[in-house]
Amino acid sequence: MSDTHATNPLLQDWNTPYGLPPFDQVKAEHFVPAFEVALPAHLAEIDAIAAQSATPTFANTLAAFDESGRLNNRISLLFENLTASETSPALQVAEVELAPKLAAHKNAMYLHAGLFARIDALHAKRVDLDLDPVQLRLLERVHLDFVRAGANLPPQSRARYSAVMERLAALSTQFTQNVLADESGFALTLEDEAALAGLPAFLRASAQAAAQQRGLPEGSHVVTLSPSLAEPFLTFSDRRDLREAVWRGRVARGAHAGSHDNRPVAAEIMALRQEQAQLHGYATYADYQLIDRMAGKPEAVSALLGKVWEPAKAKAEEDRVALTEMARSLGQPTPIAAWDWRYLAEKVRQARYDLDDAELKPYFGLENMIGAMFDCAQRLFGISFVEQHGVALHHPEARLWEVRSRENALIGLFIGDNFARASKRSGAWMHVFRSQSGHNGGTLPIVINNNNFAKAVAEPALLSFDDVRTLFHEFGHGLHGLLSQVKYERLAGTQVLQDYVELPSQIFENWAEEEVVLKRHARHFQTGEAIPSSLLEKLKRARRFDQAWATIMYAGPALIDMALHSLPNGSTVDLDAFEAQQCELLGIPQDIGQRHYLSHFQHLFAGSDYAAGYYVYMWAEVLDADAYDAFIEAGDPFQPAIAERLQRHIYSSGNKQDPALAFRAFRGRDPKVEPMLAKRGLIA
Ligand SMILES: [Zn+2]
Repeated sequence: MSDTHATNPLLQDWNTPYGLPPFDQVKAEHFVPAFEVALPAHLAEIDAIAAQSATPTFANTLAAFDESGRLNNRISLLFENLTASETSPALQVAEVELAPKLAAHKNAMYLHAGLFARIDALHAKRVDLDLDPVQLRLLERVHLDFVRAGANLPPQSRARYSAVMERLAALSTQFTQNVLADESGFALTLEDEAALAGLPAFLRASAQAAAQQRGLPEGSHVVTLSPSLAEPFLTFSDRRDLREAVWRGRVARGAHAGSHDNRPVAAEIMALRQEQAQLHGYATYADYQLIDRMAGKPEAVSALLGKVWEPAKAKAEEDRVALTEMARSLGQPTPIAAWDWRYLAEKVRQARYDLDDAELKPYFGLENMIGAMFDCAQRLFGISFVEQHGVALHHPEARLWEVRSRENALIGLFIGDNFARASKRSGAWMHVFRSQSGHNGGTLPIVINNNNFAKAVAEPALLSFDDVRTLFHEFGHGLHGLLSQVKYERLAGTQVLQDYVELPSQIFENWAEEEVVLKRHARHFQTGEAIPSSLLEKLKRARRFDQAWATIMYAGPALIDMALHSLPNGSTVDLDAFEAQQCELLGIPQDIGQRHYLSHFQHLFAGSDYAAGYYVYMWAEVLDADAYDAFIEAGDPFQPAIAERLQRHIYSSGNKQDPALAFRAFRGRDPKVEPMLAKRGLIA
């Protein structure tokens, strides 16, 4: 080891509390040299597995492969987390340099002829190997990973395949950075009192905090494109011109001519994905992606989205009438526009249900809601969360909890990083610094939840009810990582099929809406008084209002995603033209629009996991709505026997078995679509 390697904290043993990364020692410039050591070391392990003279066995090939690459794995996870949660110009430079190298490493591993020959030989005689079901699952799973990554390609296509994958990795990085640049570049200053018209106190406070973060003079207010600021602004601002500016700012992310223009980036990604599908022998990229999903085929996705699309548009038509009447009564212009919908919907909601978001917020302090989600996890699964102080994390605002079992054994670590900042990606997500597995006699998971809640000045952070659902959603993913009891890392925690992974997260949102939970935890941040029953009742009644709008905002982009990735190989894509043509074809209402437009649609272009896969949320919603009905039928949201089955078959079992079987084991039958349609108000 050279001197620089000897002092690189990424390459040392991590003698830190819980084996956490040594956050206070790691610097951006450590990553490139660390990967220069870790990647070849990982490949040497792979070479050694492949070069064994012994006949391939499950132990000497599959288990050994699952065990390999510990150093690389640890550094990669830290790098992924830092670039998402707490990036810096230096990390962004490292990211650009490393993206193709990491992709090349993945290629070297999955296109390793010697290793694949062993895995393929085992796969061919898998039924005769006397494997237990989990071992068989690992073998089938890893074999599919290799096939999907190109291991079966003829030798003459491999070099080109590698080049395609490396270029795709570089383009994805560029796509993400372009979105971040446009997001951090936008700040609408609210110059005077007139510009603040309609904004409730919490929103003024977060606009003030955003201005402070940007170093603007005391008393300034700024609206950014962060959803926790932009979405309430679109909901409450009386200033139609400013709402339009914010709405247009969001839509235009990634679509400005110049160095951050994502349209040519996405077009090149599409061309390369089509080539990738072609090399694999699939007619379209969607066909290639769907072989690794519960849905199986694009037709199954179209069938599901087809069940909601026209009914949602019909329902939106009714809502539009009410919104238009409201606009007229307020003296606002009609027909209404996309930057009016949320605002008018809020006015109708207030009039019809007498429910005011600003009235609700004081009951949803962040601290109380964290307590609520921990309490639900305890009542369902018997686990508890004990906060730890004085341990260095990636940012001073991040917090650490020990997670303890019913028997008080340490089962994992949970990190919560809840506030928006310029160095953090937008959105909300769960990730791990370390996965649960049976490695080294058992490895405890280190799970992180990221949110982007607005920080308020001189007040505890208060959440909207949507924020509360997001908090619970990510915590559901977190529990999927924390409760995992799987021997092999490839099958552990959230490493499940993409259209199944949202089941544990989305089902957890249901507990955020349970009256017994809210009565206990939704307490006024100043008086400590529990949320009044009348307010809860109103919240419940108002919940289904405007579901058609939410369904269209989501299902439109999901349909466009499938259409885009179902283009025949060799099609040239003009992003703007394609999107316009699809909007026309689908009849996406102009006054509703899309949750994501292609130029900033990170699900599709920041990586490939959600490409031809934005539908997965609704697929999982079919599963979670039906699964939660089990508790409703039992008349108890914490019914112990059902909770136990939920933990055993869903939260702790990772990818140990086919997800369709896991669902059946929990529910006693296959999922029904009706509970999802009913929840969205699309059937009675
Ligand atoms: Zn999720």
